Amino acid sequence: MTKLPRCFLYVFLLFSAACQPPQSAAPDAPAAEDSAEGRIDLIVAGDHVVTMDDAATVIVDGAVAIDQGVILAVGPAAEINASYVAEQTLAGAGRIVMPGLVNGHSHAAMTLLRGVADDLALMDWLNNYIFPAEVEFVDAEFVRIGTELACWEMIRGGTTTFVDMYYYPDTIAEVIESCGMRALISATVIDQRSPDAEGADDSIAKGNGFIERWQGRNSRITPIFGPHANYTLNAEQLRATRAAAMQFGVPISIHLSESPFEVQYSKVNYGMTSIELFESIGFFDGPTIAAHVVWPTDAEIPILVEREVGVIHNPTSNMKIASGVAPIAKMLAAGVRVGLGTDGAASNNDLDMWEEMRLAAFLQKVEQMNPEVLSAKTVLRMATSGGAEAIGLGDTIGTLEAGKAADLIQVAFDDVHHVPTYDVVSHLVYVNDEQDVASVVVDGKVLMREGEMLTIDTARVATEARALAARIQSALQERNR
Ligand SMILES: [Zn+2]
Repeated sequence: MTKLPRCFLYVFLLFSAACQPPQSAAPDAPAAEDSAEGRIDLIVAGDHVVTMDDAATVIVDGAVAIDQGVILAVGPAAEINASYVAEQTLAGAGRIVMPGLVNGHSHAAMTLLRGVADDLALMDWLNNYIFPAEVEFVDAEFVRIGTELACWEMIRGGTTTFVDMYYYPDTIAEVIESCGMRALISATVIDQRSPDAEGADDSIAKGNGFIERWQGRNSRITPIFGPHANYTLNAEQLRATRAAAMQFGVPISIHLSESPFEVQYSKVNYGMTSIELFESIGFFDGPTIAAHVVWPTDAEIPILVEREVGVIHNPTSNMKIASGVAPIAKMLAAGVRVGLGTDGAASNNDLDMWEEMRLAAFLQKVEQMNPEVLSAKTVLRMATSGGAEAIGLGDTIGTLEAGKAADLIQVAFDDVHHVPTYDVVSHLVYVNDEQDVASVVVDGKVLMREGEMLTIDTARVATEARALAARIQSALQERNR
């Protein structure tokens, strides 16, 4: 099929809110009916299209035109349908179209450790349960099955991009390649024996190999470094990891200022807080995606702004492990880039970004005793365009605008809890559940259509996950006997 050159199509991009008079296409734009060149891959329609652009445009009876993985036009469905003929259409009745959700911090394969150790403080949970269990059970096969399980859950819930930090990153990348999601995948760096390395030097060396193998290989996959935290790596190892990341020009994801323990550890060992330490060793000299950031001081917040650190708020994990309440409203007001994340399923215990949105809003409101902080609109931004900016993909994803990658979802608004709807954004944040997500598109490819998973063999993954979990459970029972 002949494809219309992309630059030509941009000439008549339709981008008008329903309240505005529709803009007519440029005079030289070919009408769909008189030119086979108006044929494109996909049209996704909706009763409302929530673009998440800077003007917060919501188009009533809208549609998104997609070709070769790129959004060509966003506008009233009548205009899109008059301009293009698509090979495939996702019909819009009872559907809301919006950008796919961005999960800025996860440990995907930990879906297989969901529920094995609950109701514990962070350091007890990590040192006495999670790290030992990982060394004993985690291998490439564990990571493959656990990541597939996570991708299934995330696609089902409307997440299209995530930032992962776990072991065997090549295996994670292979799963992402086949399931069709977009991901930043961290090579974990930690100074202890881990499932795939013997310590910091070994994990940096293996990370170098991973990035060499995956950089530039698949536009949906960005290999990065993931130094675990400042209490599992010393200052020299943190500096070495940043140097390795700079050499490849890749970002870093890290746990930062997560718990009072971490801040205290830093003060005792370095005479300064975590963020001050990172600033003092030049760690923020390259792009940083910082998970949690629960305990930044008023003096540290300007450092996060100036160094353009992307902060990922994980309200559920922070609540469950009792890490604290991150000053999200304060950071946003200061100009920090803030996104949302689930953290791993072992500390959440699911990968539901709708729940994260709701809890992010409620937690700030009750902590500050002020219902006006962190509005539904602000939180929806954190889960989409704000999250995309926080992870360094703001130019590529996060809004529905011409020229961006076609990562978008359709949410079904016909369940009883969406009847009636006065305000779509209010419903998306305060009502919607992951089960309401109907269809998911990444890079122009449909990964889920009306609830049917198209890129993951869910029956096989469920069988494999249950079999592996049975082995883990009997080993844990044996150990506890
Ligand atoms: Zn984490």
